[in-house]
Amino acid sequence: MSKQRLEGKVAIITGAASGIGEATARIFTTHGALVVIADIQDELGAGVVASIGPGKCKYKRCDVRNEKEVEELVDFTIKAYGRLDIMFSNAGISEKLTSTILDVDFAVLDNVIAVNVRGVAATIKHAARAMVASGTRGSIICTASIAVTKGGFGPAVYTASKLAVVGLVRSAAAELGRHGIRANCVSPGGVVTPLALSLCGWSQSQVEEFAGAMMVLKGGGPLKASDIGEAALFLASDESAFVTGQNLMVDGGVTAVGSRPA
Ligand code: NAD
Repeated sequence: MSKQRLEGKVAIITGAASGIGEATARIFTTHGALVVIADIQDELGAGVVASIGPGKCKYKRCDVRNEKEVEELVDFTIKAYGRLDIMFSNAGISEKLTSTILDVDFAVLDNVIAVNVRGVAATIKHAARAMVASGTRGSIICTASIAVTKGGFGPAVYTASKLAVVGLVRSAAAELGRHGIRANCVSPGGVVTPLALSLCGWSQSQVEEFAGAMMVLKGGGPLKASDIGEAALFLASDESAFVTGQNLMVDGGVTAVGSRPA
């Protein structure tokens, strides 16, 4: 199989200045894609472009809460690279991991919903608009979470927002299939990223130990941002040409497999 699994394709990745999005930008460009890195952290985004190489990617500021900025992001990409094949709608935030339904702060709720639901809906809408207009059989991938499988994997508002992401993706798969456009989710288990660290207030090794203890798959080290990026690569590439409406869990078996006594 060719190493260049995204040769000739153009991708947008939201939330690509950091964490899972950044790791995925590195993987997509290694596989031949041209990538637009979209985020609200301009300095970090510019740093990612400098480190990957400006011949392979560009940075565009885009706050996904603002539909106009999302529309401009898609138009910028088509102007810069001539087409859009892949939308990885990955930007996401959460309330603190310790918050519960008893202390929901509705200003925080509005912001989580604005980024995780409104933002994802806007990226799907405008990516699909461009793909339909150009007749591109595109791939839309959205980052959900293991929190969609059960209560208790994440705080309440975050969990609800990620269930909405699954609903948006299933509906997009149903509604866009006639145009040859696919839509899928990738759902990470616990990955040490700035988001994960800021939410729980633990050290990197504490997060890795906690997340590793939940996995049934042992001995491979902690789950990394690049492990999620590799799953996104599969969903972005033509190798998943008949995969749509799915939620690919990348969690070391946490959600599907019960651990057995040794
Ligand atoms: P991260 O904080 O490293 O990256 C998230 C990026 O999104 C940041 O660069 C941030 O600036 C950007 N962002 C935030 N609000 C934005 C906005 N309004 N517009 C544009 N960009 C915005 O975190 P991460 O862990 O890499 O998170 C990526 C995705 O993975 C999120 O959707 C998150 O919910 C999901 N996720 C993460 C984990 C985990 O354990 N890290 C687990 C499950 C799901």
